[in-house]
Amino acid sequence: MAKITTNLQTIMHKIEQAKNRANAKQEINIIAVTKSVSIERTVEATEAGLIHLGENRPEGLLAKKGEIGNNATWHYIGTLQSRKVKQVINEIDYLHSLDRFSLAEEINKRANKTINCFVQANVSGEDSKHGLSAEDVIPFIQSMEQFEHIRIVGLMTMAPNTEDETIIRNVFKELKKMQQEVVKLNLPYAPCHELSMGMSNDYEIAVEEGATFVRIGTALVG
Ligand SMILES: *Cc1c(COP(=O)(O)O)cnc(C)c1O
Repeated sequence: MAKITTNLQTIMHKIEQAKNRANAKQEINIIAVTKSVSIERTVEATEAGLIHLGENRPEGLLAKKGEIGNNATWHYIGTLQSRKVKQVINEIDYLHSLDRFSLAEEINKRANKTINCFVQANVSGEDSKHGLSAEDVIPFIQSMEQFEHIRIVGLMTMAPNTEDETIIRNVFKELKKMQQEVVKLNLPYAPCHELSMGMSNDYEIAVEEGATFVRIGTALVG
């Protein structure tokens, strides 16, 4: 396994180049997705200076948080089953996978603080992907007003698994367009300034298209 510091330098350099190509000015937060690596490797990631850590299972999140605690910002990036909400919701800083009303209800019931949520959109319309379809995103966000513990900080998507850059880029462009529509609504509980998009294979495209959070596993810690 390559050193995380070396991987991080490469990724930061590529992000800078992508920003320059697109004349992009946004700040990029790198989330180290540690779901497939050990606690030791996750500690190494924090030692390399990574602040944001992403997990997609309650067990993994709790085990790693048990070791690292509040020295990191914790992101839950995977599908969250409603019955597991109470295990994790007060342990995380950001949820990237809010995709249904019943999940929001359960979060609101179990949370004892405001939870920063990304609404997950299935922009590409692939059956295999979780997330709300494009036309449901705005009505869904409007329906969140009743939940005092939920704050919609942004939108999240996963690009389809394809070699075709144009398809990937269009998915990211669509997400940004939706995000800007939400911003225009001026909802106090949904500032929606952030875009969580881009993984190991497509983060450069995501940065060019306005990502503010990239979620990188394999290329960083894998
Ligand atoms: C696993 C995962 C990632 C990271 O994927 P890599 O290809 O390893 O960078 C990002 N986002 C989500 C939602 C994931 O499940």
